[in-house]
Amino acid sequence: MKTYLLPKEGQFYKANLHMHTTISDGQMTPAEVKEEYMKRGYSIVAFTDHEALVPHEELTDEHFVAITSYEIATNRGAVPGGFPFEQTYHINLYAKDPKKNISPVFTMSRLWPAHAGNYMSDEAKAVEWPREYSTDSLNALIARANEDGFLVSYNHPNWSLQNYADYARLQGIWGVEYYNTGCMRAGYPDTMQPIDDLLHLGKRVFPLATDDAHAGKDNPHDCFGGFVMVKAEGLEYGKVMDALEKGNFYASSGPEIKELYLEDGILHVTTSPAAKVEVITERRARWCRRGENLTELTFDLSGYLRTSREVKEKRCMPYFRITVTDARGETAQSCPYTEETWGE
Ligand SMILES: [Zn+2]
Ligand SMILES: [Zn+2]
Repeated sequence: MKTYLLPKEGQFYKANLHMHTTISDGQMTPAEVKEEYMKRGYSIVAFTDHEALVPHEELTDEHFVAITSYEIATNRGAVPGGFPFEQTYHINLYAKDPKKNISPVFTMSRLWPAHAGNYMSDEAKAVEWPREYSTDSLNALIARANEDGFLVSYNHPNWSLQNYADYARLQGIWGVEYYNTGCMRAGYPDTMQPIDDLLHLGKRVFPLATDDAHAGKDNPHDCFGGFVMVKAEGLEYGKVMDALEKGNFYASSGPEIKELYLEDGILHVTTSPAAKVEVITERRARWCRRGENLTELTFDLSGYLRTSREVKEKRCMPYFRITVTDARGETAQSCPYTEETWGE
């Protein structure tokens, strides 16, 4: 029997899950963002302006889904906006309800830039959730956001000057950026390390590649880099959010993962032409294939998937994930697959 890791049914839709517009400090209007991204084959954009949750339902139609979302920064200093030398937590909140326009964790005193407030209701601006730079405080904020129907991502750890001590204790995180076009081009490339670290701690988190773009359409230098391919049964808000929540997607800065399934312990991978395909696990087990134009591969994971009770007890959360690297060095990352996926 085949177990499909990316669902067999449905279609892939290309998404940029991190974007700033003229509502905060970006250069394109939301309508221009839709136009520019659709021209390049995207069907989904999450509008994650700084601090202000503003829905863009008017942009959603049969060819496009605008995800209602926003980005929160918790800086060491109390000053909103400029924080060049300090560590910061940046997280995105993605609403499962497209109409969501009041965030229970909004903080009026941190609203930045101020004009973003023009797009919010008085009721939304009346919320004042306490904000301070600590893991405990952030965990309380994330728990409240989760309870109110938001998926939460942890953004660009490298640019944020953060490391293991800052993220290991985070709870309730759904996705982590390993690729952020804006940060990468500014000299702060992220890696899969924080994701593997969190997975090793038994936290199921998904890898995200995003743009975090701020540029104008005449010089879109931080656009069209990192993206997520969502496999959903249709291009509808609810179906897209459901697919994201379940991990029915992969993230990439170039290569495509076309099919992933397990059959009798054999992993089948179909990709766009690749130079390297790796299967990475929580144990010191790793498979790596190199070649030219690799497109169809199989990996025998049966020994890894069926382990003794003794070994199992020592393992926190067994998982495997797939990395595809193309000839230019760009990668695609699958979500991690756990025992939930492959069963006993
Ligand atoms: Zn950020
Ligand atoms: Zn951002």
